[in-house]
Amino acid sequence: MDEEPERAKRWEGGYERTWEVLKEDESGSLKATVEEILHQSRRRRVTESHGRVRLGMMRHLYVVIDCSRSMEDQDLKPNRLTSTLKLMESFIDEYFDQNPISQVGIITTKNKRAEKLTDLAGNPKKHVSALRKAVDTPCVGEPSLYNALSLATQTLRHVPGHTSREILIILSSLTTCDPTNIYELIKTLKSLKVRVSVIGLSAEVRVCTVLTRETGGSYHVILDEAHYKELLLLHVKPPPASSSSECSLIRMGFPQHTIASLSDRDAKPSFSMAHLDHSGPAGLSLGGYYCPQCHAKYTELPVECKVCGLTLVSAPHLARSFHHLFPLQSFTESPAKELQGLRFCQACEGELKDRSVYTCPSCCSVFCEDCDLFIHDSLHCCPCCVHSRSAA
Ligand SMILES: [Zn+2]
Ligand SMILES: [Zn+2]
Ligand SMILES: [Zn+2]
Repeated sequence: MDEEPERAKRWEGGYERTWEVLKEDESGSLKATVEEILHQSRRRRVTESHGRVRLGMMRHLYVVIDCSRSMEDQDLKPNRLTSTLKLMESFIDEYFDQNPISQVGIITTKNKRAEKLTDLAGNPKKHVSALRKAVDTPCVGEPSLYNALSLATQTLRHVPGHTSREILIILSSLTTCDPTNIYELIKTLKSLKVRVSVIGLSAEVRVCTVLTRETGGSYHVILDEAHYKELLLLHVKPPPASSSSECSLIRMGFPQHTIASLSDRDAKPSFSMAHLDHSGPAGLSLGGYYCPQCHAKYTELPVECKVCGLTLVSAPHLARSFHHLFPLQSFTESPAKELQGLRFCQACEGELKDRSVYTCPSCCSVFCEDCDLFIHDSLHCCPCCVHSRSAA
């Protein structure tokens, strides 16, 4: 047995510390301290910006969802599977919102097998509808970590080296049924620079500890549904690119949506190229996005042109990834008591009665906690700074 690193026992320490932190208030309730712990973890997400590092902006992520019998457990409501699929839907939306030029694929594993629910693709609608259909999947047998990982690797090994290769496993079962030694596969994953992360729904499993440590991923076990959601959100942000990954300039096309006018006698409805492999909506249409290089027509963006291979994105979409390169600085937290004069949040105009307020370091505007999280998670710019910046 190889030597176990320090962090393997971390949960014990974490447990002890949690116990020390928990204090009853006058009425004997723990609510206040539990809220405090949640508050801390939300804060960490905001302040943990990567700063000036290289990020993998084009991501290829396979999500592996355990569909084994243990997914029928009802500790998450109504059960683990339904809850997971629901959270995955919002994860997919959030992922494409923040990573518009990336792709996702979904793999399920049950009954010792793994199969693809969706292929790697950049179209959120397709994944979401597949997830909705999967609600009725019967949960049977044991998952197979090995089969799921090797299925994902088959595709990931062919994606270009300047993009990130990632696998995120949602594991409910405490056991896995593997046809052969998984440690060999872990070596292969490591050499292919596939980063594997695991979110456990039950308890820490040793093989996952090794898997995530060797491939540079993260491993967390959920506490409850709110924590589950937080953990998924951690995977929305692009990971720092490893120093050994290639850099590359990427040619992109920014087609505009054009509609052939009905008065034009030559206007004929045409098919989108995407329906060739059933990845887009079938049917004839007059409008579409035309590849600037070869004039192939598509009805949805982003897409890789099937004719000439050019990556086609909409310019506003690409602009949305911009904030990852220049993250909004975190606001300074200070107790609300110290505040003089200003008693209202400058975003929602609500009264500042929280324990802490958040001040933007450049324009000194104050915000409540909810607005601070919204600004850093969704807006990515300070609403009060915008005017001064556009004037400059
Ligand atoms: Zn083209
Ligand atoms: Zn506010
Ligand atoms: Zn500001």
